[in-house]
Amino acid sequence: MDFRVERPGGAAQSSSPGNSSVLELTDLKLDYVSENRKTEVLRGLSFRIDLNATSSRGHKIAICGPSGSGKSTLLYILGGLLRPTSGRVRVLGEEIWNWDEARRARFRAASIGFVYQNFHLLPAWSVLDNVMLGADYVAADQVPMLRERAIGLLNRLGLKGLESRTPSQLSGGQAQRVAIARALLMNPQVILADEPTGALDPATAAEIMGIFDEICAEGRTVILITHDEGVANSCEQIIRLRDGVLDRLDEIKSSSVDLDAKLGTVSTADREAAGHISASQMVAKDSAVRTNLFQHLNWRRAFGSSWKLLRRNPSRNLLTLFGVAIGVAAVLSMITIGRFARERILESYDRLGVRSFRLWGYTNWNLPISKPLETYFREFKDEELAALTRLFPDLEYYSPTANFWGAQVSYGGRSVTEDVNMAGVNEHGIRLNEFSVLAGRGISAIDVLERNAVCVIGSGIARELELTHLDFKNHQSEKPLLFVKTGRLNFACRVVGRLAEPKSASSRRGRSGQELILPHSYVRAIRGESPNSNEGDFNNVIFEVRAGADPEKLSKHVEQFFKQKYGAAGDFRASANNRVLEQMQRFLKIFNGLLIGVAFVTLLVGATGVTNMILVSLGERLRELGLRRAVGAEPRDLRAMVIGESMALCGLAGIVGLVSSMLLLHLVLYGVSLAFPDVKFVWTFDILAISMSLISILSVGIGSGLYPALRAEQLDVVAALRAE
Ligand code: ADP
Repeated sequence: MDFRVERPGGAAQSSSPGNSSVLELTDLKLDYVSENRKTEVLRGLSFRIDLNATSSRGHKIAICGPSGSGKSTLLYILGGLLRPTSGRVRVLGEEIWNWDEARRARFRAASIGFVYQNFHLLPAWSVLDNVMLGADYVAADQVPMLRERAIGLLNRLGLKGLESRTPSQLSGGQAQRVAIARALLMNPQVILADEPTGALDPATAAEIMGIFDEICAEGRTVILITHDEGVANSCEQIIRLRDGVLDRLDEIKSSSVDLDAKLGTVSTADREAAGHISASQMVAKDSAVRTNLFQHLNWRRAFGSSWKLLRRNPSRNLLTLFGVAIGVAAVLSMITIGRFARERILESYDRLGVRSFRLWGYTNWNLPISKPLETYFREFKDEELAALTRLFPDLEYYSPTANFWGAQVSYGGRSVTEDVNMAGVNEHGIRLNEFSVLAGRGISAIDVLERNAVCVIGSGIARELELTHLDFKNHQSEKPLLFVKTGRLNFACRVVGRLAEPKSASSRRGRSGQELILPHSYVRAIRGESPNSNEGDFNNVIFEVRAGADPEKLSKHVEQFFKQKYGAAGDFRASANNRVLEQMQRFLKIFNGLLIGVAFVTLLVGATGVTNMILVSLGERLRELGLRRAVGAEPRDLRAMVIGESMALCGLAGIVGLVSSMLLLHLVLYGVSLAFPDVKFVWTFDILAISMSLISILSVGIGSGLYPALRAEQLDVVAALRAE
């Protein structure tokens, strides 16, 4: 956007001289409405003050009238800070109340400077910072130039060397000079002054009026409210108000003579030597200054004002921020602890030797007959399982299992007819099913390859068949030959080993000790490849995963693999092999959810604290917010400022929380590892936990600033400026 087009002076000059006016009001009305009560303050104000096109000097206009007649109200309307209820307002030929807020703010920043009766300096800020307030709303590269200009203005106003003082270290006259320097910073065309000498003694008042005359001499228009008839009479025009209407418009002809006389006291050379930049110089610089007036979020400024905010009430504010730090720490530790516990559970899978899971697969008998299938599933094939281990390298071992129920076993005139649990497995089957061989040997790879007619028996069967004395040590002796009979199969096998008593009976089906284990290839051989009964089908497989892999997760993958391969033809189900750990994982999930819930609540409490703290601080900073709007901030600049402050504060607190909780956490984990020797200490830089913490810092920053930001955006500027 080209600001020169909008340059109010330019616009005024571009219109025909007869039309150009300093001020033009038509039936201006303003009502204050509060608690359903309407106060009519301005009640149809109309007048026009024309420019003297031939004069290079500005104009000095006084607004007079009894207290309560609406003078300040009028001034705020002219400055674009208070929207009139009705009527038209032209300032320097511009109908500023027809513009949007942004354009009005720009106009205010570039063309209007405010001076107040009580100076309205920010007490905690240095003199230079006070003068530089408007520089917050220009591009960063313009700031050094404005700083130079601010120092020049202070020098010129006789405040050399006082830049770093605070307002409380200044006299009234000095304070008002600082306020005037602030108003002049952006080289405005109009100065609006609300009783600028009202709080000063007569001598100081005269000095200040002298400065206003100089300002006028530079081509600026000064509109000031005054109760002092002497001051009023030094102006070219006096707008006299009474009860919200125009009482009289006085024109003082003689004033120009007085002013010209005074003007001689400060030569142009003096002013430039004192650092003053002439109006013509500033016009060129102005357009550059104003090209980037809308940086809504300035981090430097946000951190600066957050720092000031912190310093104002350190103990209270640090306590509040402590809440955020704790919240972020909670998020980080909860996630890290959750993940840490998960890893430890995986380790305990390893330690307990349960790195296994079981997969079941059956023909889907519930399929409608009308639906022909391309695939058919009856049982797991060995080639298929071997291929699976290549597809999922984390599957280390597997064994297919076929179960037979109700087999009868006899030897030497004795027989076992009840609860015999006959199974065909491969060379890993015994170990994977958590059996161990007490005497003799298990099923070997050779047995599987050669389809050897061998078997391993459980301790119960060994007892009933009186084979417990066998230690299988004598390789020469004949191995006992068992006769086995199931529903339709009759076969024999030689006993090559005996199983130990099972450690825990709970996890297995059937009566423990009644096992009869055979090579699966032998089972297939005696059963035939396509038996007409389903007994002896390889409907389940037990897998063992590599150390460190998650059996639970792999079981899901494998299940999914078969579901996809066979579709509706089969029913597949996989589950990790340990109930206790499964339960533990489930519990851990709930526990984790709870932890994160707690972290979330903590964060919410912290955020509420910050919201409150910023709201309180905004209440204390009403004056500052009002002044910011007066020097050209848009409502959304204030919104951005508050969000920026909130983010800076929460960011600061959050990072402190993040780092300290990380240290603390590792300290605790280290302590735990000392107390429990089987827990190994590892540095855990959990990317997920850290990024979740950063996300929560960001959201708390935005979240807690949001409401105060909206309040700042909707600020009643006039009320803020009038607030004590
Ligand atoms: P002056 O500057 O001439 O003393 P003001 O413009 O400050 O007068 O105020 C004009 C009138 O408007 C006063 O009677 C004042 O009480 C009233 N007034 C000012 N602000 C408000 C407000 N926010 N709500 C209601 N009345 C207000």
